[in-house]
Amino acid sequence: MTLPVKDRFHLPEGMIYLDGNSLGPLPKGVEAAVSKMITDQWGAHLIKGWNVDDWMAMPLRIGNRLAAMMGAADETITMGDTLSIKVYQALAAGLEMRPDRRVILSDSGNFPSDLYMAEGLIKLLGGTYQLRIVAPEEVEAAMTDDVAVAMITQVDYRTGRMHDMAGITKAAHAAGAVMLWDLAHSAGAVPVDLGGCGCEFAVGCTYKYLNGGPGAPAFIYVRPDLIGDTQPALSGWLGHDAPFAFEQSYRPAPGIERMLVGTPPVIALTALECALDAWNGVEMAELRAASLHLSEVFIEEVEARCPDLTLASPRDGNQRGSQVSFAFENGYAAMQALIARDVIGDFRAPNIMRFGFTPLYLDEGDVRRAVDILADILDNRLWDTPEYKQTNRVT
Ligand SMILES: *Cc1c(COP(=O)(O)O)cnc(C)c1O
Repeated sequence: MTLPVKDRFHLPEGMIYLDGNSLGPLPKGVEAAVSKMITDQWGAHLIKGWNVDDWMAMPLRIGNRLAAMMGAADETITMGDTLSIKVYQALAAGLEMRPDRRVILSDSGNFPSDLYMAEGLIKLLGGTYQLRIVAPEEVEAAMTDDVAVAMITQVDYRTGRMHDMAGITKAAHAAGAVMLWDLAHSAGAVPVDLGGCGCEFAVGCTYKYLNGGPGAPAFIYVRPDLIGDTQPALSGWLGHDAPFAFEQSYRPAPGIERMLVGTPPVIALTALECALDAWNGVEMAELRAASLHLSEVFIEEVEARCPDLTLASPRDGNQRGSQVSFAFENGYAAMQALIARDVIGDFRAPNIMRFGFTPLYLDEGDVRRAVDILADILDNRLWDTPEYKQTNRVT
């Protein structure tokens, strides 16, 4: 079960790429689009490009495309910076919406950068706030009336465990808290209904399942009825109502533009905009069904053939994003051995082998071949060499 769009991607011959959850592959057309932008716009127009090529419109134009994919209204998403920055912006704005409360609620499955950003913000605010981290299963119960912002990542980067966005948002609102979702491993991976869930903020990156390229710009969503009241803590000039009036003092733009900080990364946005064409005609529900099918084939085959590996993801597909993780004490070396055989996944400390399933360009044959190679590596202890035990800077 694959979607008929595999030929929209460049994939090296023979490689089985199970890492689109870390860095999506290169969609065809992106090199040409970027090269054309550089030559015809930057090269030929120089600074005139901001007007004649409408570079300033890119963050919202692309934000609108993501909004359409994620059930959000037009003009509720803008692009720029990295996800860590967007987490900070949304969190700071959320705290300002609940001035009488002092708790940021998160869970132990959150990605460290989100927690680090919260720590840094708390420090800046004089240490009067508290970051309360509970187990993922305890999030709803921990939604007490002192929580200002619930800052939760929907899909756990390690295990793939997926939170119920609608249910947790409802619990947050019942407790009077602001809901901030991190959709890093959701956008382009699972159906997302931002409008329907009613959360105040959402953030995410575009280099994972959205294939925007290394360091591609992040997105931030603000619920439409709140945009006008959202205070941008990172009050850069491009979030100003009139950037080119060069006023002495900050006045936020009325719309979602207020969440812009500085100059848009035009080259990166060009790559992302073209990369999103790979989604044309793709139905999220169909993608989800294919992703669950591939994940289930993988789990079944690995459990049958690789007894040393233990499933570290929820068995129930409804509670899993689009990745499957297995624990193995020699997981790092085994992943290096797999990579050497052109089956690309990644490793997350201390012992997680992580595999992403992106049915845009993976089919069942790929998944079965990947398990053949994994079983061969484990059966013959091919991972057990010093070469595969040396840790690289990026795992
Ligand atoms: C990938 C990821 C990040 C990375 O943040 P950057 O600022 O883009 O490096 C942050 N949070 C989560 C939940 C992630 O999965």
